[in-house]
Amino acid sequence: MKFSYVSHLQCPKCDKQYNAGEKHQLCECGSPLLVNYDLESLRDILKPEDLIKRKADLWRYKELLPVQREENIVTLGEGMTPLIPMERIGAEMGIPKLHMKDEGIIPTGTFKARGAAVGVSMAKELGIPELAMPTNGNAGASWALYAARGGIKSTIVMPVDAPKITRNECAIAGANLYLVDGLISDAGKIVAQTVQNQGLFDVSTLKEPYRIEGKKTMGFEIAEQMDWKVPDVILYPTGGGVGLIGIYKALKELQTLGWIPEGKLPRLVAVQSDGCAPIVKAWQEGKKESEFWEGSETLAFGINVPKALGDFLVLESLYETNGCAIAIDDATVLEEQKRIAELEGAFVCPEGAAVFAAARRLREQNWIKEEEVVVVLNTGAGIKYPDTVDFELPTLQPGELITKTEVLIEDQE
Ligand SMILES: *Cc1c(COP(=O)(O)O)cnc(C)c1O
Ligand SMILES: [Zn+2]
Repeated sequence: MKFSYVSHLQCPKCDKQYNAGEKHQLCECGSPLLVNYDLESLRDILKPEDLIKRKADLWRYKELLPVQREENIVTLGEGMTPLIPMERIGAEMGIPKLHMKDEGIIPTGTFKARGAAVGVSMAKELGIPELAMPTNGNAGASWALYAARGGIKSTIVMPVDAPKITRNECAIAGANLYLVDGLISDAGKIVAQTVQNQGLFDVSTLKEPYRIEGKKTMGFEIAEQMDWKVPDVILYPTGGGVGLIGIYKALKELQTLGWIPEGKLPRLVAVQSDGCAPIVKAWQEGKKESEFWEGSETLAFGINVPKALGDFLVLESLYETNGCAIAIDDATVLEEQKRIAELEGAFVCPEGAAVFAAARRLREQNWIKEEEVVVVLNTGAGIKYPDTVDFELPTLQPGELITKTEVLIEDQE
């Protein structure tokens, strides 16, 4: 039995095929490439029960991942994050079967670790000594740290106002880190130039084919954790959309393997910020591609992507599953974030909070029905956003007594 059942790379736009196991970036037509597997052979060889004895990380799906030799795997133990019932906030929203897939506890604190683990492992397998990427923060942090673990050098360029914590993660990992006095699109242009001049491997979102493969494991895990029954709805905070493209791809692969039923896919929901909602706009207009969103702004910086290279794949996943796209404003995100922490003890990232708020709104509109099984993705830990939360707190002098306790308790009731 082979380690991986990867067969080839294929362009979803022009269908051109490329060999697996070679260095590729975009298709010559400019589209991202997708990884294909020999699912027909695998169907007879691998069964869901075979996974039970395997380690609880994303490499348990190795046959459906592109790395062909085990020694190339670069891992920090990522994957198999918990799928947690959210009964209290679910009851408040009128969605008793609400679950949260919590990516906040993964190495580096965001689900970007999944893409980095598989992407960096593939870079190692392909013998790539140095990679480069522009980032809004979280992706750079994950890739810099995983590259360090894999013995690969990295060059990372991020906006000066990207969160300080992600800067520190890159810097401490020994990345060649540069700040740019501009936006991620400016960082992208600088990286593209550097890549050309210095022959580095460009790991910008979707410019290499393997980040999707790492992120798709969220889809495998949700199915496995639900005993190979899929939920009715999955909501996902969408920036570049790699997670959504990945989850859709994973579910299709599981259908081909016969591990989940043919007839039903969850309705996929792309959640954006109303300060940056190109996918929502395109979906509302029934378009197949999005337009550049001018002047984008949101505190949920992970979803501040004005134009995604894979927008057509994101939109396809929404149309094909009867899903939808919805935008949430920052004030609502902050309210929801506090509500989740109060009711469930979960300190989610703003992107994750946006998704809870979207579930609440879609339930109000009756797009989500009361009895439906709903999974929300919390893509990162709230503690990676120390400056997003800001409370006025009473300060006591030594020896001073607390007089407000009773009032607080009354308030609770
Ligand atoms: C990058 C990021 C997202 C968006 O992910 P895509 O797959 O690019 O759409 C959402 N949440 C967090 C915390 C992120 O870092
Ligand atoms: Zn093509």
